[in-house]
Amino acid sequence: MTAVAIDGPAGAGKSSVARATARALGYRYLDTGAMYRAIALAAIEAGADVGEEAALARLIDALDLDVTEDHVLLNGRDVVGRIRDADVTDAAARIAQHQVVRDALVELQRRLASGEDVVMEGRDIGSEVLPDAEVKIYLTASLPERARRRCRQLGLPEGDDTCRTLQEDIARRDERDRNREVSPLLQAPDAIVIDTTQIDFPDVIQRVVELVRSATLRTTDR
Ligand code: C5P
Repeated sequence: MTAVAIDGPAGAGKSSVARATARALGYRYLDTGAMYRAIALAAIEAGADVGEEAALARLIDALDLDVTEDHVLLNGRDVVGRIRDADVTDAAARIAQHQVVRDALVELQRRLASGEDVVMEGRDIGSEVLPDAEVKIYLTASLPERARRRCRQLGLPEGDDTCRTLQEDIARRDERDRNREVSPLLQAPDAIVIDTTQIDFPDVIQRVVELVRSATLRTTDR
């Protein structure tokens, strides 16, 4: 089995690259950010305090979460259309700071990946969830470029006020992810860094697919 870990800051293109790489190789794709977002949504809907660990623990105990390539099922209800909203995005970065949330999700992530070839993306995949992954990528891009891409995705003109706010939101989220005590966003020492600021996505995907193919060849040669 081959595991590919893709980590990096918000808006670096992890989802596009991970999804396309998984398709090209016939691997399972797992978006771990979607899991943090789903728990955040559950907390919002339950009116739970996202800063209170005990409330989050109770919430998780009562929760049935399943994630497939295109669906995020929260107690059987597909919430994929809701989890990218700004309130959920903000709450996700907050609940992700809690050990109890991370422990539950890391266990689920490892279970979903076991026995499968997988491309998993997030913040702590190479460092914590799959430390033995055959390929570890740290995908990044400059902050203005990441904000520009998000802005384009939303169909907004560059320089729009919302885009400026977006850049601030991304910077705040990165700051929180990098500085939290448990499993902060970091570049695993054995990760290959790909800065996508000036590279087109098809080229990034080709590079990642090639890295995986040569890693699998090395493993079968052993
Ligand atoms: O990747 P995405 O932006 O969907 O992730 C939402 C939030 O979930 C991130 O801001 C981060 O705080 C958290 N996260 C995490 N660890 C992961 C994946 C996501 O802490 N492996």
